[in-house]
Amino acid sequence: MNFKLIFKTGSLLSLCFACLMLNLALGIDVVPNSMTSVEKSMIYPMSDLENFTIIVLPDTQYYSENYPWIFDNQTQWILENKESRNIVFVTHLGDVVDHWWSIEEWDNANTSLSKLDGNVPYGVLPGNHDGAEPNGDLTNYNNYFGFDRFNNESWYGGAYKNINTNNYQLFSAGGDDYLIFHIQFNPSDDILFWASDVIDQYPNRRVIVSTHNYVHGYYSNSRSGMGDNMWDKLVKPHADQVFLVLSGHYEYEVRITSLEDGNFVHQLLSDYQNRADSGNGWLRIIEFSPNIDEISIKTYSPYLNKYETDSNSQFILDKKITENDFMLPISIFLAWIILSIVITLTIRYFILRRPRKNQ
Ligand SMILES: [Zn+2]
Repeated sequence: MNFKLIFKTGSLLSLCFACLMLNLALGIDVVPNSMTSVEKSMIYPMSDLENFTIIVLPDTQYYSENYPWIFDNQTQWILENKESRNIVFVTHLGDVVDHWWSIEEWDNANTSLSKLDGNVPYGVLPGNHDGAEPNGDLTNYNNYFGFDRFNNESWYGGAYKNINTNNYQLFSAGGDDYLIFHIQFNPSDDILFWASDVIDQYPNRRVIVSTHNYVHGYYSNSRSGMGDNMWDKLVKPHADQVFLVLSGHYEYEVRITSLEDGNFVHQLLSDYQNRADSGNGWLRIIEFSPNIDEISIKTYSPYLNKYETDSNSQFILDKKITENDFMLPISIFLAWIILSIVITLTIRYFILRRPRKNQ
């Protein structure tokens, strides 16, 4: 056997495999889970394709406990920018308060969020600190942010067992109809089946899921156990409609974009609770631009009047799989390279060990 021939064959195979993996990772041609802007413009008048904004309020627990004026500042800023930014919805990611038994904290949270009542549609959900932990109590959550508070709003969709612990809202903007869930920390299978049924009732709506614990911040780009459970039972089976999952709980900023049956599902973690002044008012601005079929994420603190612009705080939700899904092809590729080298060196070793007749 010829060593050079073996080496060349090994290299060629590695190169082919690399190209295949790169193509898989970057070049997949898929059908997006919404109409393109061109398709939409044929159905809707261009005036309907206006840009619009959703504001995300991650864990406010320490504001409710110690810095209520920062929470106030967030909702006041939303009111003042409602028209200029076309803010159509505000979503809270849970842990509204730090201690579910503290009336003072609920009072503070209520003062801040009440500013939105009658002004901007919004949804809340209970995190572990709001009483959704195993030994917690959701009485205060539902006393302050219960079913009756929202049930008369035109945009309120409903709630699991008519209790606002798990709820959904409906809104339309930019030529699309949306359904947004607010699902509690550690939802039971029953709750996830209920949410699945709700999606089935609205087959033409684009779906956003807000929840508390979903993307795991401590390990790079992975879902938590609760997140995996929600992915398996709610998000993945409805990936043709669910395009965005928002979560907090872990003090990080992480983006996971998964590709499921040709649909991109963006799953974002944002939580700033351990920063100076318990978060300094940082929130997320999600800007939808239907005309160019683009969704952009910005991180902003109205309290500091500052944007955070590093790559995990400000980005476009492009149709690319993130590292999480990228790692598998890369790992296989590296394993293949190492295996090729080992095989080549082993064969070479045995060939060179054989005594040559002419020497
Ligand atoms: Zn939490």
